[in-house]
Amino acid sequence: MTTQPTASHFVNGAYHENAGGSAIPVIYPATGEEIARVHSATDAVVDAALAAARAAQPAWAAMTGTERGRILRRAADIMRERNHELSVLETFDTGKPYQETSVADATSAADALEYFGGMAATLTGEHIQLGHDWVYTRREPLGVCVGIGAWNYPTQIACWKAAPALACGNTMVFKPSETTPLCALKVAEILTEAGLPAGVFNVVQGLGDVGAKLIADDRVAKVSLTGSVPTGRKVYAAAASGIKNVTMELGGKSPLIIFDDANVENAVSGAILGNFYSSGQVCSNGTRVFVQGGIKEAFLDRLSVRLEAAVIGDPQDPKTSFGPMVSERQMEIALGYIAKGQEEGARLVCGGKRLNRNGFYLQPTVFADVADTMTIAREEIFGPVMAVLDFDDEAEVVPRANATEFGLAAGVFTRDLTRAHRIAAAFEAGTCYINTYNDAPVEAPFGGSKLSGVGRENSKAAIEHYSQLKSVYVRMGDLEAPF
Ligand code: NAD
Repeated sequence: MTTQPTASHFVNGAYHENAGGSAIPVIYPATGEEIARVHSATDAVVDAALAAARAAQPAWAAMTGTERGRILRRAADIMRERNHELSVLETFDTGKPYQETSVADATSAADALEYFGGMAATLTGEHIQLGHDWVYTRREPLGVCVGIGAWNYPTQIACWKAAPALACGNTMVFKPSETTPLCALKVAEILTEAGLPAGVFNVVQGLGDVGAKLIADDRVAKVSLTGSVPTGRKVYAAAASGIKNVTMELGGKSPLIIFDDANVENAVSGAILGNFYSSGQVCSNGTRVFVQGGIKEAFLDRLSVRLEAAVIGDPQDPKTSFGPMVSERQMEIALGYIAKGQEEGARLVCGGKRLNRNGFYLQPTVFADVADTMTIAREEIFGPVMAVLDFDDEAEVVPRANATEFGLAAGVFTRDLTRAHRIAAAFEAGTCYINTYNDAPVEAPFGGSKLSGVGRENSKAAIEHYSQLKSVYVRMGDLEAPF
């Protein structure tokens, strides 16, 4: 195994152990074996992390943006140099194939550190002239931010939250998912090596109760969660009582519409990327695939052939292109949905079974003839299960695509230029794709509408969610008053 983190938490610039908290086993999804063990944060650990973040914040904010940015960019460079080691660890933590982790995890995290590191020096307020008087605005940090992560992209999520937060002069306490606790510790270690002052980025382990304690603390100004809608409701409500800022990156059940005129191979690629990457454990996945009548047969034929070519196996083998699910529990949830799909009358085109090997492997699964009302077309499965639905024309399919409580992402494959943009405008979703699917470059805003979230990560837009404006009124002459 690769270099593992050396303790459960990272507090005030160093690894920190406290075995008083309950043990959290780290299970390698490809074998089901325990590969590490961390301890949940006790109240003392939570307090130490928040105290460190609070104490470090004024001096961190007082540095120039150039100085802060330099540290973030140095961390990005270290991450890229250690991409192999970090990708191996990410694969142990999540079970995702090395073929993916080596191009999508530490690399994406490094992009965020580089992008926001570059932006740190450019953050400014503005000058507003009012005759002889004037107002200027100062863009100020919020203070101590809490980041709470899901298990599907542990390195990326930590950096998508930390990079803009730190660039703006905030400090952070990050709680990874209890399912994948290792990678965020490496992020903290690398930031520290890059010169980050102690206390600016801290990591504490634990389940929802530890997250809830962090959010409830008066020292915290902002909470950014990546997780499911039910957790989002709880976290949003807890943040509301303290009138805290929030970013919510939640779940989805996104539509992907494929018209007769689409290039079939590209459409199949989009559907594969939008359903089977990371064994389907991607929040923005286009799991409701609406396919127009004229292309349906060709689409399903090519999809089946190409799924046969998936290399399922040891995720550390660079040849493997499809790995296990993150946990037994997540696999059981997906199997439950597969059974439900069959019960409710969807046609199983391929897959549907657990693989006969150790670990939490599920076959890539496709259902056709799915009706809008079926459970597999309405609920987020978060596994490798694609639902193919039929449609006749644009007027019919767009309202059906939007008929969901979620609004994270949506995609369309067509060669008709005006139709593509018309549909992108009509989609009720935060992130839309035309003739592609699931790209998430740091330069573009990412986030959801409706139940899928509040706020945006990445891009210049993230700065708005990690800073606040202070207006300063300046009077140049005498001041009159009514009495
Ligand atoms: P989850 O909601 O079960 O847990 C997310 C995190 O919240 C974990 O760290 C968990 O410990 C913590 N948590 C749970 N209860 C809490 C509470 N009461 N207070 C504070 N923290 C609490 O989600 P998951 O199973 O880890 O991840 C899968 C979900 O995340 C899916 O719904 C997926 O769509 C979503 N997701 C969204 C995005 C996005 O960017 N929109 C990205 C990845 C995953």
